[in-house]
Amino acid sequence: MVPISRPHVIIIGAGITGLAIAQGLKARNIPFSVFETETRNVSRPREWTMGVHWALPLLDALIPQHLRDRMPEASVDASLDYGKYPNNAPRIYDGLSGKCVKELEINDEDGTPGREMRMSRRRLRALFAEGIDVQVCLQAFLAHATLD
Ligand SMILES: Cc1cc2nc3c(=O)[nH]c(=O)nc-3n(C[C@H](O)[C@H](O)[C@H](O)COP(=O)(O)OP(=O)(O)OC[C@H]3O[C@@H](n4cnc5c(N)ncnc54)[C@H](O)[C@@H]3O)c2cc1C
Repeated sequence: MVPISRPHVIIIGAGITGLAIAQGLKARNIPFSVFETETRNVSRPREWTMGVHWALPLLDALIPQHLRDRMPEASVDASLDYGKYPNNAPRIYDGLSGKCVKELEINDEDGTPGREMRMSRRRLRALFAEGIDVQVCLQAFLAHATLD
């Protein structure tokens, strides 16, 4: 067994959380490996959207600027300007007429206007996976992993 002189972080799961941590570690030159059990890696036949609000400051700290600049690519509503309130307010559309029936005001805990981004999980995962080597593994592999 080769002795490890520096900590090497093992990330189990290439979801938004695992990939965001991987980006943060990469930016800080901390060695890591990402293992994901899904063979399709960043794409599922059925996906969902996520309203990201309180986690945005955490993503600011983890995701490098060039990828943060591209986060609107993963948005579900390209008409929104996420840079400034109230143009970033999530909207509810009438599915039949296409008209906007409600703009949702997002406030932080102290009542000041906040940020919210409604993201496609699939597209956000693909963005955060850029430059990250995700190793597809079977759960059985991890069951037999040992620590020195
Ligand atoms: C319909 C729906 C709507 C939602 N809406 C919102 C919302 O509006 N706002 C919001 O904040 N959240 C929302 N969520 C929740 C949000 O999707 C999750 O909190 C978020 O995706 C969790 O990310 P994660 O990376 O922690 O976990 P996951 O996305 O679950 O990723 C975990 C990854 O780990 C992999 N994995 C698991 N076990 C192993 C293993 N043993 N070995 C290797 N890989 C493994 C999985 O395959 C998966 O890819 C919603 C969820 C659903 C289902």
